[in-house]
Order: sequence, then C-alpha cells, then structure tokens
Amino acid sequence: MTYTLDKYRNIGIAAHIDAGKTTVTERILFFTGVSHKIGEVHEGEATMDWMEQEQERGITIQSAATTCFWKDCQINIIDTPGHVDFTIEVGRSLRVLDGVVSVFCGVAGVQPQSETVWRQASRYRVPSIIFVNKLDRVGADFFAAVNSVNDKLAEGRSVAMQIPIGESENFNGIIDVLTGKMVKFHNDAKDLEPQVTWEDAPADYADQIEEMKMEIIEKACDVDEALAEKFLNEEEISLEEIKAAVRKGVAKRELFPAFCGTAFKNKGVQLLLDAVVDYLPSPLDVPSIKGIDVKTEQEVERKSDKSEPFAALAFKIMTDPFVGVLTFARVYSGVLKSGSYVYNAAKGTKERVSRLLQMHSNKREEIKQASAGDIVAIVGIKDINTGDTLCDESHPVLLESIDIPAPVISTSVEPKTKSDYEKMVLALKKMNQEDPSFQFTYNHETGQTEISGMGELHLEIVVDRLKREHKVEVEQGKLQVSYKETIQKPADIEGKFVKQSGGRGQYGHVWLKMEPLERGTGYQFENAVVGGTIPKEYIPAVEKGMKEALAEGILTGSPVVDLKVTLYDGSYHDVDSSEVAFKMATKMAFREGMQQGASVLLEPIMKVEVDTPDEYLGDVMGDLNSRRGRILGMETKGSTQTVNAEVPLGEMFGYATQLRSLTKGRAGYSMEFECYREVAKSVQEEIVASKK
Ligand code: GDP
Repeated sequence: MTYTLDKYRNIGIAAHIDAGKTTVTERILFFTGVSHKIGEVHEGEATMDWMEQEQERGITIQSAATTCFWKDCQINIIDTPGHVDFTIEVGRSLRVLDGVVSVFCGVAGVQPQSETVWRQASRYRVPSIIFVNKLDRVGADFFAAVNSVNDKLAEGRSVAMQIPIGESENFNGIIDVLTGKMVKFHNDAKDLEPQVTWEDAPADYADQIEEMKMEIIEKACDVDEALAEKFLNEEEISLEEIKAAVRKGVAKRELFPAFCGTAFKNKGVQLLLDAVVDYLPSPLDVPSIKGIDVKTEQEVERKSDKSEPFAALAFKIMTDPFVGVLTFARVYSGVLKSGSYVYNAAKGTKERVSRLLQMHSNKREEIKQASAGDIVAIVGIKDINTGDTLCDESHPVLLESIDIPAPVISTSVEPKTKSDYEKMVLALKKMNQEDPSFQFTYNHETGQTEISGMGELHLEIVVDRLKREHKVEVEQGKLQVSYKETIQKPADIEGKFVKQSGGRGQYGHVWLKMEPLERGTGYQFENAVVGGTIPKEYIPAVEKGMKEALAEGILTGSPVVDLKVTLYDGSYHDVDSSEVAFKMATKMAFREGMQQGASVLLEPIMKVEVDTPDEYLGDVMGDLNSRRGRILGMETKGSTQTVNAEVPLGEMFGYATQLRSLTKGRAGYSMEFECYREVAKSVQEEIVASKK
C-alpha cells in the first residue's frame, strides 16, 4: 500500500530523560501493531533502543527511524536522544522531522532538560504537540503540567485538549473536549490490549468542557483569521473548522495542543496517535527545504514532490552487523530507486544504492523505491558522513548541512592488548562516521590515541561500545578539557630564518601583525604585501606555516583561535629563499607574537541548571561557587528552586555524584556547552603548570 504525502507524518518523540519517551515510543509501536510484545524499559527490551548499553542505562542515545501505520497514515518515528551530552544528536534528528511529540512527566512538569529540548525544537522550527505522561503517578496533575509548559516554554500558547478522569491509580478515563466524548479504560492492561469503551461525558463535566472548548476556539482564532471572523460574527463553527485551525497553528509553532495519559499503563496512547494524525503536519504542510545549487551557488528550493529532482539528507549513519553501513536519509524531493546511482554533493562522489530498507521495530523490509517525504535506510553507500546531501547528479544541491560543534573534552585510550590496536582504530573510525561530534587523533608526542567529544558521558559510551560491540578492552586516561588559546592585544612582529654558512643557504623573512578578534570568530589571514617584497610564490608557505603554528599555542599546546594575522612586509634572497625558510620564519614570528599579544587560555564554559528542593539550595550554590561557577539567577517552582549558572567544564567532573550526595539524590541537573571564555590569571597558571 502506498500512502499519499498528506498521509505521512515524520515525527520524533522528544523529552526530558525519564519523562517516558522510550515507553511512549514502545506503546506507539505496540498499538500500531508492529511490535506485539511490549518491552518494558526497566527490563531492558525496548524495541527502539538499538544498542545494549542504552538498554542497560535505560537511555536512548542513538537515533533510529521506525515506520508504523495508524488509521490511514504512515508514521515514521525518528528516535531522538534525550541526554544533554548528545544535544547535537537531538538537533540533527529534529532537522529532518516535520513534527514532534513533546513528552512531559505529569508530576514534575517542565524540567530543566525539557527546556533544552524545547529550545532546540524551536531553533529548527519543528511543530509540536504535548503529551503529559505518567498520570497514574501520585501527585500527577495534567492541568498543572500544561500551566508549567505555558509559563516556562510555550508563552501561553499551549492548550489542554482533554480532561483526565480520576487521579493516580484511579485514573481511568479521558474526555475529548472538542467532541464531549469520554473514553473509559477498563483494565490496566500492562501487557494486553486495554479494554476501552466510548460514551458521552458525564453531565457534571458539561461546564468544564464548555469552558475549555472556548479556550481552544479562542486560541485557534488567534492563529486563524477566517475562524476569528466567524467567531466574532457568532456564526456556527464546525468541529472540522476548529481542528483545521488548531492544525494550522501547530504547523506555524503558534499553538501547542496538549494531551494526557500514562504510557506505562497503556492509557491515552491511542488518542495521542489520533492527535498525531489530526494535528501534526505532513511533509506538504511545512515549508519546502532550501539548499544551495552546487553549479550556480544560488539558493534553490526543493518541493516535497515526486516530480522534482531527487534530494535527500543523510541524518544518521549506523554500522549494522548484517548489512554494513546503513545511511538513514530523509528524502525531500524526487524519487530514489534501489540499484540506482546517487551523487553525494558534500563529497563530490557518486555512489550506488544497492538496497533500500524501511525499518520497522521488529523487522526490516526491502523496498524498491523511496520518494519525497520518506525516511529510508540506504545500503551500499561507502563514504558518507552525517549531514551530507544525496541528490540527482544532474541537479546537484547542498541542503544546508548541520553545524558540528568542536569537542570540549578528551581522554586517551590504549588497547589492553597491543594486537587490538588496529581493531580499535577501525572501531573509532566507524563511530566518528556515525557521530561526527565524536573525534579521535593520534598524538605523536605521547604515542597515544586521543578521543574527544561533547561530554563525560559521551566518551564513556564510546569506551563502552569499544568493549561491547568491538570487543576491545581499553585503558582510559584522565579526562582532559579541550582548551584553546588566543591573544589579548595586537602584536607587530618580525620573523627571520637565515642560515648562510656552508652549503645551500636558507632565507625567509616576514613582518606580521596579529590582532585579537571577537570570541567565536575563528582565524583570518590577510596578505597585505605590496611591491613584491615577498614574491607571490612564498605567500602560501607563510599561510601554511601560520596554520600549522596555530594548531599548538604556547601555553598548553592548544589550538589558537579568534585572531587575525596580516602579512605586510618582509624580504627575500634570490638564491637562498625557499618555502621551507618562509614557513620557519612564520613560525618564529608566531611564537613571538603570542608573547607580545599576551596570550591567554580559553576554557569551555557550560550552562548548568540545577533543580533542587529548598532545603539544599545553600549547599548547591556553595558547591557551584567552589567550582568557579557564576550564578545567573534563580527561579522558584513550588518548593523546588531552579538555579541557573555558568561553570567551567573543567570543574564539572564528577558533578553528578557530588550533587547526589549533597542532596540525598533529590536534585537534578542539566548541562550544555555555552561558549569558550578566558581563564582567570591565577587559574591559568595552575592549568599551565599541570600540563607541563
Ligand atoms: P525516557 O528516559 O524518557 O526514555 O523514559 P522511559 O520511557 O525510559 O521511562 C522512564 C521511567 O519511567 C521508566 O522506569 C518507565 O517505566 C517509567 N514510566 C514511563 N511511563 C510511565 C507512566 O506512564 N507511568 C509511570 N508510573 N511510570 C512510567
């Protein structure tokens, strides 16, 4: 059966860790009939969790795509990771979605990490509906959760679409406000189809239903003028019109309808699926993707249409034990056939698509073609990275690629048995291909392999995977923060490399200016030599010498960033000058310039949010202060305080353990990379000394 594009839903489930994302996904797969046995997360069987250690940790790190069917729709679920250390993964998967179900815990409401996830959805403009989960828990409150979403995230644009009946373990029904119908759950149905019946909502809910319906209509009117006009003229408004207006508001990210239930007890998930179909956009409802035409370098649009030239974005590379490299791609336009050739516009290479797979949670299905709107797994592509565009060779296009942040933390790894070295490097290569925010290098000085990534847990997972998937046991070194260096003031320097005694001489001579640039600008080079004081052919050598020099600053050997180098004068010798001599002269000038420019160390600063009960507030703040943290603000939410702070990453090692012991495990925190910032002088001395 083929589905028309308006019947497609490419969605993600996004949530704060522990809110129930995995369970919700599981139940969706169960109800859509794909997965016939429900895997409980705590039993480590969740269908979407591909890798062992995810199951053990009960968190989902890697995203995979799963196709399922509900009513007359095909729903493709992209699993988005929930942990902060992997926000790049979240961002990457959000990009290829048309909509997202944001899951919140009915007891905790909005938690710090949900804000990060929400901000990301907002950055990629992904429309969202809300599912308040865990209504079976004591203290769960659907309306309070919707209020907290409105206060903290949605700026009042979320609206409750349902009324839960009964509290905690007596939660046994849901009223659909728009129809006034009530579904009753007759069993807890942890492992079975729940028995449900539909009936009219009890009469004593009439007022509440009317009031809530009014709120939905009012909010829908805010986003739909035609509806607003009808409403003002007191004309009859049909159910279909309200739904259509809400749907429109969702697509524009101006309205966030909220639904409730308990995934664990199988209540409300089918209604949530109805809501996905009713309110989340199809590929036709979202703006067409834009890219850069490789030939003309002009911006072009690719419409969600089979007749357009083929274009797809690779959003996930996985190595699969059975078929090798699997490229998960979102097809934005045109048709992709198995057995055909595609052009990788990012790499300029042509590759053959040997097979196309649609992934279901318990099986993979071979398909002959994929077209606009589809999420597909491609077998056969050899050289590809996340973010690459695959397209029709005669219409090459680069869909904007995903920014990959530079790693902020590293450690050395060494195989316990020497013979495992090659196996380890191969495995690291694979992991880098799957996740470019993870990198590895060989350090010639120490003879060690260094791995780097976005956080402590990120690297922990890599080491874990080495052991489990690749059977390589490694010795891990100390965690190291990735510092950078820059200069604080301009420098004007001369570099001269002259050797003229015996044999062939060497002569290179440059005058350079080095100036600090704003944080995050990177590196710029300008050639301002006039009158040929340095012949043209040596300029590239100067540039290259500078690039090499910048890789290692003079304080800790960290990369040098945020500065501009201007080559403005120098001299040469007819016979003795060479590229090597100019490179050497440049490197000498660089060292001098770093001294003159008062070089300074930059360290990664993390944005940290801690949720703690009142009574531990003092201890939590004191601890953050002792970690050179800067408290930015505090927010009260009942008896919980949220502390916002900026803390150097170097001071955050082992924070989870410390916070747990400080607060008897009652506080939670989230952390996200914020920026690089200068280190205070005294601290810099300590760090430099420790590196020596
Ligand atoms: P994730 O980290 O967001 O993927 O959350 P999980 O789906 O792994 O759920 C976290 C924990 O909450 C697990 O122990 C689940 O069994 C539990 N859980 C999930 N949904 C519900 C629910 O509706 N009610 C209750 N009481 N527990 C739930």
